[in-house]
Amino acid sequence: MNFHILTLFPEMVLNGLNTSIIGRAVNAGLLSVEAVNIRDYAFNKHQSVDDYPYGGGAGMLMQAEPVYLAYESVAEKLERKPRVIYLSPQGDVFSQKMAEELAQEEELILLCGHYEGIDERVLEEIVTDYVSIGDYVLTGGELPAMVMVDAISRLVPGVLHNDVSAEFESFQDNLLEYPQYSRPEEWHGKKVPPVLLSGHHANIEKWRREQSILRTYERRPDLLEKSSLTEKEKKWLDEMKKELENK
Ligand code: SAM
Repeated sequence: MNFHILTLFPEMVLNGLNTSIIGRAVNAGLLSVEAVNIRDYAFNKHQSVDDYPYGGGAGMLMQAEPVYLAYESVAEKLERKPRVIYLSPQGDVFSQKMAEELAQEEELILLCGHYEGIDERVLEEIVTDYVSIGDYVLTGGELPAMVMVDAISRLVPGVLHNDVSAEFESFQDNLLEYPQYSRPEEWHGKKVPPVLLSGHHANIEKWRREQSILRTYERRPDLLEKSSLTEKEKKWLDEMKKELENK
């Protein structure tokens, strides 16, 4: 999978992404991350890429032409028009489901805004998807682009070890992951739940599933409404709710 990040701060995204698991996947040739410096496509001698917004108002706006030329420098090398994602607080909120869908793409262009954003006309011309990483405003699209590349990359086959990627993770079936423990068996007087030391696979799976349901109920009840619990599990949860209320 090939990511092309259009940005005014290429070193920021490359430094952030060329480390740890994503960096190793890049070195192994499973992914590529290219950062295109929009400033290289400035069309004036001062290399500026921003200007005042028409109609007044605070801040500067990235101009259409350098963004368009940066986009073209990537698009002209590709056979098909790729999806172009503009990172924007006005976009659809990024989710695991969206990451799974985008992981199917061969090429992705991620466009990072800065200052007050980007001239609307170039967005209309090149952008296919508007994506936000949450309801807050950041100074630039670089961190959101890095968040997206990280979440999408770990779904690309081979990036995680197969045994890890096949395992249950938060958001599968709209449930959060169960609590996990490693050595030692006792720490600060707290013991690892005995079932995890029992070696009894079926009991361990049952315990994990129940803990996932309980944790989701406690931390993200909104997700639980969309998960597919069996009738037996629903009854069990009702019992647990009563127990929690009586505590
Ligand atoms: N004036 C814009 C608005 O009100 O919608 C905000 C511009 S913001 C200061 C500068 C850039 O940061 C945006 O163009 C976008 O690329 C990025 N950005 C800021 N917050 C973001 C978020 N929550 N998700 C994705 N990108 C974001």
